[in-house]
Amino acid sequence: MKDIKSKQLFEKSKRCIPGGVNSPVRAYQAVGRSPLFIEKAYGSRIFDVDGNEYIDYVCSWGPCILGHCNERIVDEVKAACDRGLTFGAPTEAEYELAALIRDCIPSMEMSRLVNSGTEAVMSAVRVARGYTGRDKIVKFRGCYHGHSDGLLVKAGSGALTQSAPDSSGVPADYTRNTLVAEYNDADSVKRLFEANKGEIAAVLVEPVAANMGVVLPECGFLEFLRDITKKFGSLLIFDEVITGFRMSLGGAQEYYKVTPDLTTLGKIVGGGMPVGAYGGRKEIMEMVAPKGSVYQAGTLSGNPLATAAGIAAIKQLREGGISLYQDLERKGRMLSDAARTALGKRVQVNQAGSLLSVFFTEEPVTDYGTAVCSDTHEYARYFNYLLEHGIYTAPSQFEAMFVSTAHSEADIEKTAEAIMGFACCIK
Ligand SMILES: *Cc1c(COP(=O)(O)O)cnc(C)c1O
Repeated sequence: MKDIKSKQLFEKSKRCIPGGVNSPVRAYQAVGRSPLFIEKAYGSRIFDVDGNEYIDYVCSWGPCILGHCNERIVDEVKAACDRGLTFGAPTEAEYELAALIRDCIPSMEMSRLVNSGTEAVMSAVRVARGYTGRDKIVKFRGCYHGHSDGLLVKAGSGALTQSAPDSSGVPADYTRNTLVAEYNDADSVKRLFEANKGEIAAVLVEPVAANMGVVLPECGFLEFLRDITKKFGSLLIFDEVITGFRMSLGGAQEYYKVTPDLTTLGKIVGGGMPVGAYGGRKEIMEMVAPKGSVYQAGTLSGNPLATAAGIAAIKQLREGGISLYQDLERKGRMLSDAARTALGKRVQVNQAGSLLSVFFTEEPVTDYGTAVCSDTHEYARYFNYLLEHGIYTAPSQFEAMFVSTAHSEADIEKTAEAIMGFACCIK
């Protein structure tokens, strides 16, 4: 595999961009090689600047559920370009996207558009605090909710003590109100509610965790969160930035039939443009300015390019209906079956619809603690082998593999063969 040009560009980029990249995972640090610089992508295929072609299972970390360069999205964006890039004034398309979101995800009676998942979650948390008049929030170790100060917390020093920030530059005071529980562990949540009576504004959770690798909610876990938040007068926030429009048209909340008070969206909702959204019941969302007292704003929020792409993406998913999602799930299952068959006891494969992770560990992965037991060196070898064989997957053990509607049966078969090839060469 030739990668001279990528290497040269990486060296140049490092001189004027920290680490050479605009988001850390892109630097490939976890897999011991320098990153590929991408030139273009169509359908299921991505092409680097050295002329290599790969089947892409990163899909820009989720947005490209319809494959790259989806014709209708691209056409709508081009048409929007010709009418003006941004007005900073209301447009009909914003209404159209909000109505589409509400039709697909009925709990989002009202929503606001922002420019990223980070902004969506940050704003939803603010609304939950404004609505309840409480300061504390509960999040789960290993769940990622964007890079806002108060949410850059993975672990507290013991569940009942105050949480320390994960990043330098975040004052400890900013994470004082972020309590950390264990994913799939109801008792850890109960303990926090008992110790902080009347103080918890919301429980924030990825309904399928996909930022410590894919970790599925155990049976009854989401229902438990629904019940306990109701009991203590707190809100339940589903961070559906990855799962929204992916687990089903109505997201994980439709898939698992658990309805949160607030939902955050990102990734797919922008069809490849920078978009996030947060929303929920009317009575809660009317807390947001100018109607209410919770301030949130954005110069480019709901701009015409973003809304055009989002509308075109969601309409196609809606037209595809149940069979589109069944097809995605089937392809996800084909890949997870292939990995289990090839790699056997060496791995745990967690799959939910078109999201999956191959963990190099012999124990089931149900939370952060079990996820980090994985052999990241073995994952790095797996990643590099697949890359050499034309398969582009996440350059980290703790990210998901994303399947799109553009992946063909032949793509999946070729991928399965490559995984089998890796299994043979490590035997
Ligand atoms: C990607 C992600 C975010 C952050 O979204 P950005 O658009 O990268 O800011 C938040 N929550 C979850 C669950 C995500 O996967």
